[in-house]
Amino acid sequence: MKRKLILNYVVDTVLILLVFLAAAGVLAFQAYENQLTKDLRNIVSWIRIDKSNGISNEAISYKYSHIGYISVINKEGELIASLDSALDSTENLLSREEFQEALKEGEGSSLRKSEVKDRYFFYRTYTMGDEILLIAVPVITATEVLADYGGTMAWLSLGVLLLSFGIAIYFYRNNIRPVLVLEGYLRGDGSREGTEVDVQSLPKELKDIAETYQQTRESLVAEAAAGEEKRLYLLSTINTIKDGILAVDEADNITLMNKSAMSVLDLSEEEDLHLDILVATQNLELKEALKERAENAQPREIRLKERTYILSVHPIPQKGGSLLILHDVTKVRELENMRKEFVSNVSHELKTPLTSIRGFIETLKGGAAKDPAVADKFLEIINIESLRLESLIGDLLALSKIEENRSVAVEDVDLSPLAREVLEKHRKAAEMAGVQLTEELEESLAYRGNPELFKSLLSNLLSNAIKYNHKGGEVLLRGERKKKNLVLEVRDTGIGIPEEEQPRVFERFYKVDKSRALDHDSSGLGLAIVKHIVELYDGEIKLESTPGEGTSFRIKLPLKEEA
Ligand code: ADP
Repeated sequence: MKRKLILNYVVDTVLILLVFLAAAGVLAFQAYENQLTKDLRNIVSWIRIDKSNGISNEAISYKYSHIGYISVINKEGELIASLDSALDSTENLLSREEFQEALKEGEGSSLRKSEVKDRYFFYRTYTMGDEILLIAVPVITATEVLADYGGTMAWLSLGVLLLSFGIAIYFYRNNIRPVLVLEGYLRGDGSREGTEVDVQSLPKELKDIAETYQQTRESLVAEAAAGEEKRLYLLSTINTIKDGILAVDEADNITLMNKSAMSVLDLSEEEDLHLDILVATQNLELKEALKERAENAQPREIRLKERTYILSVHPIPQKGGSLLILHDVTKVRELENMRKEFVSNVSHELKTPLTSIRGFIETLKGGAAKDPAVADKFLEIINIESLRLESLIGDLLALSKIEENRSVAVEDVDLSPLAREVLEKHRKAAEMAGVQLTEELEESLAYRGNPELFKSLLSNLLSNAIKYNHKGGEVLLRGERKKKNLVLEVRDTGIGIPEEEQPRVFERFYKVDKSRALDHDSSGLGLAIVKHIVELYDGEIKLESTPGEGTSFRIKLPLKEEA
């Protein structure tokens, strides 16, 4: 680099020098020619005087021979007198340029090579009466100059070359090298060993640039660090949000996404950031929603991974692009559906006994009341249906009370006598169904809870065990303490529940065999109530059942360690 720069500089200098010399040569030649013209005119005036004094042509030629070769020619072009041995006396000189000029204008000139003398001459002609004076002055050629001054010129050139070399090095040291050092420093090589010192040795102006640059660099680094910190802060904030958040730029390339968005859309930061949203998610609905954003699109509901989300798209002001927010509404939708189902189930369950009651009342009104036996029978049916309605409404109220966890008083209860009491209440129904009731209860089962709820729980399980049993079947009620739990079990030898139905029997209004359920006093709410009570006490309920063999409901209630 350094060598090349200096060489270039020297070559440039030498070229400029040569051009300069050539121009000086041309100018010097012109100046010489002008001077010669003037000098010759002077001499010609002297010659005119000499001639008028009668001095012969030969004498004049000799007298001025130091100026050049002087010849006298008549107007016919014949040589009258000459010192110039090169001029042939027989040669007609009229055809020559300078003679023609002299004949026309009294004075002529030409620069030509003499064949005889083999060198260049300035030929000048002047008319003098009937004669023409020709003065031939030899031109000094470059070779002659070189022969005379060659050595001096060579030394001079060498001197100029060395001088220019010296100037180049000086120029490099003082102007180019500092700039190169600065450039290296700005490029980031400044940390290299030794460069630090070099920067200090730079001229003040360049050192200022280096310092300003350093300050700017430091502030940029600080700004970048602050930007990164903000980015991390933003990321950690949006990562705590449960909604999926995803930002895209104007070209729909992903620029930001939180953890929820990544898990819902199966995206990864390493692979999918900066990718087109359609390519990354393969989800046309997202793309559609982005398309509609310009038209102020309403949030739309979309399904992803078997869940329901509300997708809203918000334009990002100033920056362009959009922000997509995915709000999980699966639970809300499920609850809505449950509510709708619940309302329709309740209506249905209430309607059946009511229709029956109204039917019998109509029949009674229509005359059946006159027959006491029929009237009694109908009234009994109306009574049963009303009780059914009452029990249904009772169950519903109990369920809603437990669900809301409202005003459930808690006290110390011994579940052993409580369970026996409930069992006794079912004895009659069991006898009627031909089912044998037995119990295996520990002497005392102390628990803290609401006695009415436990009665309801056991009552529901026992009545099911009797209802869904065979004649001659058995029902066993067990109660024991086991480790830190209180375990209650109702086991029967009844019809059992098919495996595929087992997970659903705890749902409200769910009945395994709807036609069969009609025969019994069945609402489908019993097990829902049981499950809710168990959950109220943080317990768990397990169902084991084999169709045709029997069913067991096993409840585990944690015993709270209390003072
Ligand atoms: P239901 O009022 O119909 O008895 P439950 O919620 O108590 O409502 O029970 C739901 C369904 O589970 C019943 O319809 C019945 O088909 C089934 N079931 C409950 N307990 C038993 C049992 N011990 N044996 C067989 N099936 C049962």
